[in-house]
Amino acid sequence: MDLKQYVTVVDDYPKPGISFKDITTIMDNGPVYKYATDQIVEYAREVGAEIIVGPEARGFIIGCPVAYALEIGFAPVRKEGKLPRETIKVEYGLEYGKDVLTIHKDAIKPGQRVLIVDDLLATGGTVEATVDLVEQLGGIVAGCAFLIELGYLNGRDKLKGYDIHALIQY
Ligand code: 5GP
Repeated sequence: MDLKQYVTVVDDYPKPGISFKDITTIMDNGPVYKYATDQIVEYAREVGAEIIVGPEARGFIIGCPVAYALEIGFAPVRKEGKLPRETIKVEYGLEYGKDVLTIHKDAIKPGQRVLIVDDLLATGGTVEATVDLVEQLGGIVAGCAFLIELGYLNGRDKLKGYDIHALIQY
């Protein structure tokens, strides 16, 4: 299946000059959403994932069905103040200013093989921060999987040494 045809490209969103890749037209099509999920499930099996970690919010949309299919856990990574128990955090740079991502301190067991899942790899900042959280907890990043990679933003450069898998390339 050519997944790319189900991505809707929205020009000048969220601001002028940005060409946003809208994945809701993958999600709202049952067989297409299942196909995309199945591809990531296959990759998760290959890398021996024992738990899925996904950053909010679109990382949940892709990561949770993968965890469900494999009968393994899913641990959410969220913005500061959103998780109810003790967390660890990491600051990461945005185009303007900084943001903070957090994860529950007991979400990952030391030595556990973690697959990080998000909808899209752009500059790599979000995933780099997520890798940092996983490793702070002693997890092993078995791989990082995305629906979409914007290759022209060179996100892979921030993730050297990690296994990166993306279903759709721009
Ligand atoms: P990065 O941190 O790699 O620069 O940006 C990736 C993050 O921003 C992902 O969590 C993703 O959800 C969001 N993102 C950035 N650009 C797009 C886009 O064009 N489409 C979608 N669906 N998400 C985007």
